[in-house]
Amino acid sequence: MTADPMTLAGKRALITGATSGIGLAIAKALAGAGARVMINGFGDADQIAAARAEAGGALHHGADMSRPDEIEAMMATAIAELGGVDILVNNAGIQFVAPVEEFPAAKWDAILAINLSSAFHTTRLAVPGMKAAGWGRIINTASAHSLVASPFKSAYVAAKHGLAGFTKSVALEVATHGVTVNCISPGYVWTPLVERQIPDTMAARGLSREQVIEDVLLKAQPTRQFVTVSQVAQTALFLCSDAASQITGANISMDGGWTAA
Ligand code: NAD
Repeated sequence: MTADPMTLAGKRALITGATSGIGLAIAKALAGAGARVMINGFGDADQIAAARAEAGGALHHGADMSRPDEIEAMMATAIAELGGVDILVNNAGIQFVAPVEEFPAAKWDAILAINLSSAFHTTRLAVPGMKAAGWGRIINTASAHSLVASPFKSAYVAAKHGLAGFTKSVALEVATHGVTVNCISPGYVWTPLVERQIPDTMAARGLSREQVIEDVLLKAQPTRQFVTVSQVAQTALFLCSDAASQITGANISMDGGWTAA
């Protein structure tokens, strides 16, 4: 994407939901470019140790992104142990698939808290340091579902549309401070999150596993291919570059043409 060799040496990055999938790929890419990294996310000790190693010996904080008190503790630890947060990637997210009249209220609350409100809590605590430094990057993993809807995903679609709006609002607030705020909006990326929703989609729509993959997931994407975690990570890395300093408030689709239709 950029011809210039890119370095993030001296930058400090915090990536939420980075023990797996897209977040881990972003953590690896930022660490590979020289950033000091803290990852957040769940997992057993072996999974967390492996993720830390893959992300260049990253620090780890296990805050639950549905809990503002734990997010505050994580932000304080990141600022103390990394020395600040120059790059904030709000990536933690969960999915639940059910018709709205059967959607468990607790699942609605959890999805709104993890996929949307957590980004508010991390951002409000990261922005003062970024403004003081005159440089910052906030990258929110939204989704094609921040732009269009699918049935049975009411909470997820509401949260991701909210995240896209939040991104634009904060981008305007910090625009003169050298801080950019953007969303990356992937279509279907082959990660544990996508694999886990296949059984529920089979039940909700009465389809086989193969039918869900071909007729629901890949049907949405004109390229008929899944996005890869590494493609999302390279886009995040590009957004950290100087070449991307005028990209702010954007919602960057990486969805094989899904939202062009
Ligand atoms: P994943 O399940 O592989 O990873 C999710 C990460 O979030 C894990 O590290 C997990 O431990 C963490 N997490 C979950 N709940 C958490 C909580 N309460 N507190 C802290 N961490 C928590 O999923 P993924 O596919 O890599 O998804 C990452 C992001 O990308 C999500 O926001 C998701 O909505 C978004 N996204 C995914 C796809 C896709 O097709 N996979 C498409 C568009 C957007």
